[in-house]
Amino acid sequence: MEVRAKKALGQHFLTDQSIAMAIVDALRNDPALPRDVLEIGPGMGVLTQYLIKREDIDPRMIEIDTESVEYLLTHFNGMPGKLMEGDYLKLDMSCVFKDKYRVIGNFPYNISSQIFFKILDDKDKVPEVVCMIQKEVADRIAEKPGSKTYGILSVLLQAWYDIEYILAVGPGAFCPPPKVKSAVIRLTRNSRTSLGCDEKLFKTVVKTAFNQRRKTLRNALKPMIKEGMDTTDPVFDLRAERLSVDDFVALTKKFQD
Ligand code: SAH
Repeated sequence: MEVRAKKALGQHFLTDQSIAMAIVDALRNDPALPRDVLEIGPGMGVLTQYLIKREDIDPRMIEIDTESVEYLLTHFNGMPGKLMEGDYLKLDMSCVFKDKYRVIGNFPYNISSQIFFKILDDKDKVPEVVCMIQKEVADRIAEKPGSKTYGILSVLLQAWYDIEYILAVGPGAFCPPPKVKSAVIRLTRNSRTSLGCDEKLFKTVVKTAFNQRRKTLRNALKPMIKEGMDTTDPVFDLRAERLSVDDFVALTKKFQD
C-alpha cells in the first residue's frame, strides 16, 4: 500500500529517481562535515533509500505523518532508532544531536519559511542544508538587494549561508504534481562568526524594515526610532530592499548606541 497524499501536510511525493539521486548527491562527501544528517519529511522514502546507502553519513528522519512512518517501517530495514515520528518544528534539536548535523529534505512547501527560521536558530550547528522548495521561494532566498522579491529570509539566510542553486524541478516529477515549480538549493554556512551588532536587534530591524517594505526606512522603522536619534543619514531615505546584509548591520548599530 502506498501512502495517500495529504494536502495539509504538503505531501507531494517525488517519483523521479534520477532527481532523488541528484538531491542526495548534493550533500557533500567531505570528512570535515558532520556525519549526522537529519532528513525532514521522508514520506515514502525516495531520498531515504539513497541516504541510508551512503557510508559517509548517519541519517535520521523526522516524519509527522503516521501513515508514512508505518510505510517506512515496513519497507526499509533499520528504521527503528533512526526514524522519529513527530513535528520537526517542535523538535528539540539539542536532544537529537549533541554536535553538528546537516539537514536534507524535500520540504513541505507550506512550512518551508518556518523550517528556515528554525535552522537559523541552530545555525552554528548546521554547516550544510540541501533542500527542495518552491522555486519562487528559492529565487527569493538567493536574490540580491535591489529586487522586489528580496526579503527577510534573503537577508537572514545570506548573513550566515552561501546559497547555491542546484537544479530546477517541474511538477511532473511528483505524485500528485504540485501547482508550482520546484528547485533544489544548497546552503553552506559561511565563515561569519558574529555580525558585529546585536543579533536579536538585527532580526527585529530586518523584520520591521520589510514589514512595510514600500516605505522608506525612516517611516518603516518609526516605531523603533527613539527621540533624539539622528536619522539624517541618507540610508533612512532608502527602502529595505536596497540594503545588503552589511548595510543592515550598520543600520542596527545605529539603534544600539
Ligand atoms: N521526502 C518525500 C516527501 C516530501 S513531501 C518525497 O520527496 O517524496 C513533505 C513530507 O514532509 C511529507 O511526508 C509530510 O508528511 C512531511 N511533513 C509535513 N510537515 C512536517 C513536519 N512539521 N515535520 C515533519 N515532517 C513533516
